[in-house]
Amino acid sequence: DIMLSLQDVTKAYNKGKPAEVQVLRGASLTVARGEVVALVAPSGAGKSTLLHIAGLLDTADSGEMRLGGTDLAGLSDRARTDARRRDVGFIYQFHHLLPEFSALENITLPQLANGVARSVADARSRMLLDQVGVGHRAVHRPAALSGGEQQRVAFCRALANGPRLLLADEPTGNLDPATSDQVFGALMALVRDTGLSALIATHNMELAARMDRIVRLEAGQVVV
Ligand code: ADP
Ligand code: ADP
Repeated sequence: DIMLSLQDVTKAYNKGKPAEVQVLRGASLTVARGEVVALVAPSGAGKSTLLHIAGLLDTADSGEMRLGGTDLAGLSDRARTDARRRDVGFIYQFHHLLPEFSALENITLPQLANGVARSVADARSRMLLDQVGVGHRAVHRPAALSGGEQQRVAFCRALANGPRLLLADEPTGNLDPATSDQVFGALMALVRDTGLSALIATHNMELAARMDRIVRLEAGQVVV
């Protein structure tokens, strides 16, 4: 049962110009339902490009892509945006939380934007914060939290609207090794509890080894 499938995806920047750079050269990859896949690649290899294409933030030049049962090739821009908001959660190296809102509000706001009632959204936010061990930080703004706590809140926000696929780009890359280890453990527990499918880019081979499978991005292709 496949959640994400990319087949022969190509992508160049500055196409047809002197600065053209061919980043993806027929990259193929699948993530099964409930599977957590590590994407390992040197800096500049095209990890972010691949994640942005998989997460419907960018389009490939050619290739095939399916998310859940849906063929994404024929979708309108509007339908792609809807699919992204409904089905995909993103986590970055830096938390990108809204500084003027509390941890709880940062998780509640995307749910309110999605039409969820405040009482339901608040309850879900509290449950998520408790799950990653920062329930006691609900009313604090991001600046009052440690780096590890900020990242835990960002994980909750990514899961706020119940996505089917989680895409993470160096989710603990900004933390010291001991904190990174703990925070990654919290992320994995959250992903396993919710049965999410995930594609997680990392340079850290110890973290990669804790996932179900490792794939590498080399010369624009995915190798196992
Ligand atoms: P990674 O995430 O593996 O570090 P990226 O996907 O960010 O790699 O980038 C892959 C390559 O594409 C790099 O050489 C980068 O400089 C280039 N690149 C990324 N985004 C753009 C862009 N918007 N315009 C031109 N080149 C880009
Ligand atoms: P909203 O529903 O708040 O308008 P969007 O549909 O714009 O959110 O974005 C959905 C997800 O994609 C969010 O997690 C957001 O952080 C991420 N995102 C949106 N645009 C970009 C971008 N240009 N680069 C990276 N991530 C983005």
